[in-house]
Amino acid sequence: MGVFIGLDIGGTKIMVASADGEGNILQRVRTATSTSLEADLENIHRMIKEVTAEAEILGMGAAIGGPLDWEQGIVSPLHQPVWRNVPLKALMKERWRCPFHVDVDTNVAALGEYRWGGLSAARFLYLTLSTGMGGGLLIDGKIYRGQGGAHPEVGHQSIHFRCSNPSAVQCECGVTDCLEALVSGNGIRRIYGKPAEALNAEEWEEVAYNLGQGLRNMAALYTPEIIRIGGGVAVGEGHGFISQAREVMQAHLKLVPAPRVELSQLGYDTALRGAIAMALFE
Ligand SMILES: [Zn+2]
Repeated sequence: MGVFIGLDIGGTKIMVASADGEGNILQRVRTATSTSLEADLENIHRMIKEVTAEAEILGMGAAIGGPLDWEQGIVSPLHQPVWRNVPLKALMKERWRCPFHVDVDTNVAALGEYRWGGLSAARFLYLTLSTGMGGGLLIDGKIYRGQGGAHPEVGHQSIHFRCSNPSAVQCECGVTDCLEALVSGNGIRRIYGKPAEALNAEEWEEVAYNLGQGLRNMAALYTPEIIRIGGGVAVGEGHGFISQAREVMQAHLKLVPAPRVELSQLGYDTALRGAIAMALFE
């Protein structure tokens, strides 16, 4: 029997799973991301071997932080400095001799949510709030790409924000008013001096307000039917946070229909499930 492999290469952990031809996960393993590229690659190869057993690998998909060169499969995740300019596609094809696809984690997660999250929206936007913040837009189930295959970076839009500590709003891209700098895990740490799970209700209200302003911009520009939000920060805080952000969006959105705004259905597995979808269907 042949299997399909999904990889989720994140800033804190790496997850690898094997799946059958219907996308059902057969085996899965995870490990912490290390501080060296060699060790991470070594771990990835070992984990693939472990979940594959003796089966033939029919295809492989991988999710990793952006930016990346989608056509060449060269990755440079912003939050993983040791992974700069890594020719992942070439390395994996050489080692495993099977079709290999890699894409920005938020695009991959959008595919996962669309394929396995019970959706049929023709215009669907997936957002992730984790270490960083980003999104993937699907049109009729296909990833929207910009010029030269560029991935739209919704986390790096300027927004009208509220912040009790405005001098700490500093994005890792170098700008001082990005949405990511206000609502991502790293942004929250910089502004409030603590991790997202330690914020009080007042601080969460500020984060929800800022996310709501970002949602308003994205709804106005993309007019999606549904926006689903995943990633550790959102999944950890849950439905209340999402509905607060949705209210802010609705209060400021006048001329276009408001999309449904919901928490991800796949929790922490969205990118992994999306990587399996890429292995199966791309
Ligand atoms: Zn930025």
